[in-house]
Amino acid sequence: MNLPSPIESITFENQCVFVKRDDLIDDDFSGNKARKFDYFFNHDFPNVKRIIGSGSAQANSLYSLSVLAKIKGWQLDFYVDHIPSYLAKNPQGNYLGALEHGANVISVSEHPQFKQINAATLDLKMAQITQHYLNDNDPCTLLFVAEGGRCEYAKQGVEKLGQEIIVWALAQRYQQCEVFLPAGTGTTALYLQRFFNHHDTQGVTINVLTCATVGNDDYLRQQFSSLETNTDDHPHIINNGKKYHFGKLDLSCYRMWQHVCQQGIEFDMLYDPVGFLVLQHYLRQKKSATHEINWPLLYIHQGGLKGNKTMLARYKRKFGE
Ligand SMILES: *Cc1c(COP(=O)(O)O)cnc(C)c1O
Repeated sequence: MNLPSPIESITFENQCVFVKRDDLIDDDFSGNKARKFDYFFNHDFPNVKRIIGSGSAQANSLYSLSVLAKIKGWQLDFYVDHIPSYLAKNPQGNYLGALEHGANVISVSEHPQFKQINAATLDLKMAQITQHYLNDNDPCTLLFVAEGGRCEYAKQGVEKLGQEIIVWALAQRYQQCEVFLPAGTGTTALYLQRFFNHHDTQGVTINVLTCATVGNDDYLRQQFSSLETNTDDHPHIINNGKKYHFGKLDLSCYRMWQHVCQQGIEFDMLYDPVGFLVLQHYLRQKKSATHEINWPLLYIHQGGLKGNKTMLARYKRKFGE
């Protein structure tokens, strides 16, 4: 693993934005998941034979967990609500990669036993599926990973990221800076802010800003609260008044992605376009409010490029070049 990840800069909205290149950490891991699953690499699990995860069939976490399982010699059982028909017919991206690594991708809605489970969300269904595993296996042989790595395991790797940011800010002699990253579950943003609040940053104030890409701001706040009840440790959520649907093709997202990629860094097509649209709004608002200081801004590039090929093909079919 290539750590610490390098920091480069781009020009965005006529100002310098630093970019933390977590996308360069590892060819086989999506940057964000490399951080979150760091714990599993640095600990031995002598009894574990099987790792159980859940999420979407295109998720970066599916692919990254399949790599982890392969390296560790574990079986990966990954539960998805359903497998989209285009993906079942033509496996590609994260899904294909995971299958090639020997992952069991299990569709709950088609499973003879589990399709009967009557629960609103995949998370709730997983609670019952987990019970089946515990009844049938020695619990020591199992490792459960919550959707998107939303669990305490993620803390260690995210704190390493936080430490790298502190070292950088001190070397640059900043007194204050802002870190921005688009959120899925919000786990990464939350653990980062909490780390900066409770760790000795040697006088630098580091504020974490984020935006929702899945659900709305209330959903994201709920996610934060499920991990940490103290709202002082929650990151600051920014938005541009628009609602985006995760994974849905959107012309403004496509144009923004093309725009930022012109700077010579390829960004991901799910999280980053929303991130930059919201950031654009934030920076414009700040500029019009003359008393606001523009602190140095660090954007965290969290990887996820494995899905771009499929997304780009879909975008081109819908909107042209
Ligand atoms: C998983 C992922 C995220 C979301 O991380 P959260 O901690 O769930 O907010 C963002 N970007 C990429 C590329 C990811 O793979």
